[in-house]
Amino acid sequence: MGRLQILLADDSSTSRMVIRRLLVSCDYDVVEVDNGADALATLQKENGPHIAILDWQMPGMSGVDVCRQVRARSGERYVYMLLVTAREDRKSLLDGLAAGADDYLVKPFDTEELACRLRTGVRIIELEDRLRKAQARLEYEATHDGLTGILNRNAILEMLHKELERSHRSGRPAAVLMVDVDHFKRINDVYGHATGDQVLRSVAEVIRRSVRQYDSVGRYGGEEFLIVLPETSPGDVETIAERIRAAAASTPILLDGRNVFVTLSIGIDTTGPDDVADAERMVSAADMAMYQAKNAGRNRVHRRVQSRPINRLREGAALAGTN
Ligand code: GH3
Ligand code: MG
Ligand code: MG
Repeated sequence: MGRLQILLADDSSTSRMVIRRLLVSCDYDVVEVDNGADALATLQKENGPHIAILDWQMPGMSGVDVCRQVRARSGERYVYMLLVTAREDRKSLLDGLAAGADDYLVKPFDTEELACRLRTGVRIIELEDRLRKAQARLEYEATHDGLTGILNRNAILEMLHKELERSHRSGRPAAVLMVDVDHFKRINDVYGHATGDQVLRSVAEVIRRSVRQYDSVGRYGGEEFLIVLPETSPGDVETIAERIRAAAASTPILLDGRNVFVTLSIGIDTTGPDDVADAERMVSAADMAMYQAKNAGRNRVHRRVQSRPINRLREGAALAGTN
């Protein structure tokens, strides 16, 4: 975390000056406002302060109201709020804490004490920051393939389920592509498993670059990739699949000082106009179409139902284009 920003909300400029001096001497970055509404607006900004010192009594919205409003917005990052007030009765203290304040100081207070109490806030905010980062990392790891960085099998299947529900609601067609690397075993056999991994990373990258931003690419299995194409007409699916095939076949991968080309066999399935699309059925249909592409000579795109090859390019098998 860089220099910590602290919001200082107090309608008294004298009070603000005293606290500001302390905060600056402790190397905090200070954002000052003189009323509750501005305090709330500042805390709700995208990169607003994570710590606030709020005067209880301010014109319009009070510090306690600010606490309540901030706490009402659950799910956002934590804001540590310290109330300062001249009220020293027990009821006020309990009301302030009940409204969501983390701490409470009665004016006039010792600035040393305020500095110490702020350090508690800093520790909590830093802890929350570490937890959020750890959570984001875990979420990423649970949904992404460790080797290629694209979605993993569960995540791409979940994406397909969501997309099919959306397609059903909107009536717009969606499509899936099953992509399998041709003769991939030979790469492992000739160059070793580590180089095979490098080829898989490279193929994933070529696929990712060939699809549209809103398409999803996942690793379905060893050298198989599943692609979900939302709102895509049957004609567009063929164009995209062909673009992926052509990009892979023409992208050299440097292995042991030699340029190697790998090719892909791609199976397509699309939602029909009256279909209640079923994810498992679509994946298996795309898989069958992919095997038809293999049997027809590899390095080609096939679609279910018609079972016709969409392109009849010569097979450029793995290792074919070395130079
Ligand atoms: P085809 O053209 O019929 O698809 O032939 P292929 O050799 O690509 O297919 P096959 O299913 O016979 O072999 C796939 C190979 O992929 C076998 C397996 O060892 C390898 N493989 C699966 N996962 C990984 C991986 O994570 N890394 C590496 N390097 N190889 C993998
Ligand atoms: Mg294969
Ligand atoms: Mg395979």
